[in-house]
Amino acid sequence: MMHVDGNRLWDSLMRMAEIGATKGGGNCRLALSNQDKMGRDLFISWASEIGCSIDFDDVGNLIARYPGLNNTLPPIAMGSHLDTQPNGGRFDGVYGVLAGLEVMRTLHDHSFKAERPIEVIAWTNEEGSRFPPAMMGSGVFIGELDLDHTLATTDANGVSVESELERHGYKGKPSLRNHPIAAYIEAHIEQGPILENQDKTIGVVTGVQGIRWYNIEVHGVATHAGPTPMEMRSDALELASHLVLDILAIAKIDGDARATIGEFNISPGSRNVVPDKVSLTVDLRHPNSETLLTMHNQLHELIEQACVKKNGWSAKISDIWYSPPVNFDRNLVDSIRNGANDHNYSYMEIVSGAGHDAVYLSKVSPTSMIFIPCAGGVSHNEAESASKDDVIAGANVLLHAIHKFLTE
Ligand SMILES: [Zn+2]
Repeated sequence: MMHVDGNRLWDSLMRMAEIGATKGGGNCRLALSNQDKMGRDLFISWASEIGCSIDFDDVGNLIARYPGLNNTLPPIAMGSHLDTQPNGGRFDGVYGVLAGLEVMRTLHDHSFKAERPIEVIAWTNEEGSRFPPAMMGSGVFIGELDLDHTLATTDANGVSVESELERHGYKGKPSLRNHPIAAYIEAHIEQGPILENQDKTIGVVTGVQGIRWYNIEVHGVATHAGPTPMEMRSDALELASHLVLDILAIAKIDGDARATIGEFNISPGSRNVVPDKVSLTVDLRHPNSETLLTMHNQLHELIEQACVKKNGWSAKISDIWYSPPVNFDRNLVDSIRNGANDHNYSYMEIVSGAGHDAVYLSKVSPTSMIFIPCAGGVSHNEAESASKDDVIAGANVLLHAIHKFLTE
């Protein structure tokens, strides 16, 4: 069984972390900034050393390609992103790119030649903190986000994505956008507390939660807090209070369901006035689209019933956003599980609660992800940290899955 060179991988991560290093021990490499370019240049120098060709598509996605015997075959791809949050950590995104590089380096060490080429892709602007939205490069790549609209997007100083791509020489070949990919595997830190809490080394990621967002308005009648008897009121907060617990109870459907009310505003917001309006937001999540639809229907039913309880009360709901659940490719998920098993790493199946470039890639190619723990589940934070052993374990599982795909 092949193993990655753990010290080489760790040293590369630590060298990359010197670029845009922050005082708090984290990284700041905002998308398409000079620091982002320096990070990309370092990655390019490493990939070139082992014979990779370097290319960009027209939204600046950086593609390092390790040639195969038959380069007309679609590549197997790995990757993630090199850009960070303003106060980002040393592992979010970077890990997936450099673990992919380490897999290519290891195959190169063994003079391994596959039929098909192997790619590591550093997606442009995954974080979305300088230019909205997040996962920009992979979204444009698969055609989910519009290229022209994306190029015209500006940062807070009015600098456009297009001008930054041109400045750095990243406005590459349109033909590379959405080029066929045989399979895509992304390694990433979990960015949550579950693996550490369960004392597992590898997260076999089976998919990504579906998300539904809503705005809800509850209306009543504003009256004076003194003269109006309780039984003669239509207090919007009273109705909203019943609704809050009923809405949270929707998530009792099973252990994978989530329901969150994150915003809650009372009008007119005066101590001695019975509230006439409460607005709240609801975020429902589930990895299974049918279950999520059941939750959606339950929420709509709750709001409908709420209106008929008493004269003077009404409630309305608006559907704001739907991001369907993603189920990763079964064969790839199996080979990741087998890789963890063969290396005797502890592992568990896990559903990603956060978005990743892999979500978009899963729409055009068989896709899966490998998670490793991060201390305390902390991410998007300078304190973000992962252990060297876990970093190496995730890369070994990635190598195992890539090697299996290439030799099947
Ligand atoms: Zn990330």
